[in-house]
Amino acid sequence: MSPITGAAAPSTPAVVRTILELRSRLAERRGSGQTVGLVPTMGYFHDGHLSLMATARAACDIVVVSHFVNPLQFAPSEDLATYPRDFTRDLSMAATVGVDLVFHPDRAEMYPTWPATTTVRVSGVSEGLESASRPHFFEGVATVVAKLLAIVGPCVAYFGTKDYQQLAVVRRMVDDLRLPVEVVGCPIVREPDGLAMSSRNVHLNELERQAALALSRGLAAGLDAVRRGERSAAGLAAAVEATIRAEPLAELDYVAVVDGHDLRAVNTIEAGRLMLVAIAAKVGRPRLIDNCTFEISASGSVATDLVA
Ligand code: AMP
Repeated sequence: MSPITGAAAPSTPAVVRTILELRSRLAERRGSGQTVGLVPTMGYFHDGHLSLMATARAACDIVVVSHFVNPLQFAPSEDLATYPRDFTRDLSMAATVGVDLVFHPDRAEMYPTWPATTTVRVSGVSEGLESASRPHFFEGVATVVAKLLAIVGPCVAYFGTKDYQQLAVVRRMVDDLRLPVEVVGCPIVREPDGLAMSSRNVHLNELERQAALALSRGLAAGLDAVRRGERSAAGLAAAVEATIRAEPLAELDYVAVVDGHDLRAVNTIEAGRLMLVAIAAKVGRPRLIDNCTFEISASGSVATDLVA
C-alpha cells in the first residue's frame, strides 16, 4: 500500500514469452468463468495505447496486451530496425492501468517458418488508402492478428480508430473467419494541440513536431469546407490537401474521402452517410497517418469525431 494515499501500488503485469504459457494461464482463468480482453500492440506505449488497455480493464476480467513488433507488416525499405522500443518503460506504463499479462514473444515464437509460409489476405477493405503505398502491410497485420486471436481464443479485442483501415480489415477478417471475438474500436487520443499520438512521433524533431500539426489542421479544414456547404469528395479532399501542402516539411502521401463502412470511394457526400477522411504524410523521417469521420444530418449539421 502507498503510505500517502493508502491506494494499492500498481503491480507489474506478468510477462509471458511463449504461446504455451499464455494458453495455459488463460485456460486456468477461463475455467473459473473469467472473460478476456486483448489489446494487440507493437509497444512504445503512449496514452492512445493506455486508453485501449483502460477500456479493456473496465470491461474484462483479464487484460492481455500483446507486445510484438511484427516484421511481416514492414517492407524491407521501412523502419523495422528503428521502430522505437523500450520494454521496461512499457511494462511500468501498462501497470498503471492494471494490465494482467503482457505477451512478448520473439519472432521464432510467432513465425516458426521465416519468411512466413502461411499468411492471411483480406480483400476489399484492405485495398486503396494505406495499401497504395504499403502493398504488403495489411497481409502482415491480418496474419499477426489472426495468430494472436488463435492463441488467445474467445475474447474482446480492442483496436484504435487511429488505424481506421486496419480496424476495418480486422473486423472483416473476424467476420469472414467466424472467429469467436468481439472487435471494439476506440477513439483516437491526441496531444493537447491536436497531433494524433503515435509511437513514431518520438522521431520528430522540434520543427517537424510543429509541422506534423498540418495533418489534424488539414482534417479540420476539410470539415470546415463541409460545414460551409462543400458536398463533393474531391472538393473536400482539395481543402485538406491545400492545408497540408502549405506546410513545407510535410510530404503528402494521400488524402482519401471514402465511405466510413466499406471504405469505397464516394463522389458526392450525402446526408446520413458515415464518411471517412484519411491522410498519410511524411514529416521528416516518420510517415504519419490521421483521420476523422463525419456524418451530415438531414438538417445539414455535421457530426464528427474530430476533437482537435
Ligand atoms: P501500434 O502499437 O501502433 O500497433 O498500436 C496498437 C493499437 O493502438 C492499435 O489498435 C492502434 O490503432 C492503437 N493506437 C495507436 N495510436 C493511437 C491513438 N493515438 N489513439 C488511440 N489508439 C491508438
